[in-house]
Amino acid sequence: MKVIYPGSFDPVTYGHLDIIERCAKKFDHVIIAVLNNVAKNAAFSIDERLWLLKETTKHLDNVEIDSFSGLLADYAKEKNCTTMIRGLRAVSDFEYEMQMALANRKINNDIETLFMVSNSDYVYLSSSIVREIAYHNGDISCFVPKVVEDTMKKKLKGDI
Ligand code: ADP
Repeated sequence: MKVIYPGSFDPVTYGHLDIIERCAKKFDHVIIAVLNNVAKNAAFSIDERLWLLKETTKHLDNVEIDSFSGLLADYAKEKNCTTMIRGLRAVSDFEYEMQMALANRKINNDIETLFMVSNSDYVYLSSSIVREIAYHNGDISCFVPKVVEDTMKKKLKGDI
């Protein structure tokens, strides 16, 4: 079975990677679909987010990295894949995720959203927390792989 794991990945964290690795074991093919939405004001450009995902999932040969803009339901049709994966950390994620899953199914009745419960080690972890800590010169090495940490440092120094 082929699945799509959509998100902002701004930047990718160990929480995302845990979901990706578990998906890669369970499903034949995993498409990580990075939302390229100008309105969302991302910290990392779409190319940076795609590159970081490629670098951190190199060891998984059934994982494809792609980007999309617009509606996920349209992207799903284009990719001929109607199974979406989303991660659930806490009850606080539930309301938004439920709303998105129902809205997507309303647009395209074939779309099913499957939820994967976060690894308990990463239940508190989000890209925004990583960005916040990094902006205040905190150590993010336990939240993200080295390549993400190094890229974040370069970004903060204004080198990229
Ligand atoms: P979005 O803006 O679409 O929520 P994110 O990149 O923040 O994009 O998250 C993408 C998906 O990964 C979401 O389903 C989110 O719940 C999940 N996710 C994010 N962080 C974690 C984590 N620490 N553990 C499990 N799932 C996570």
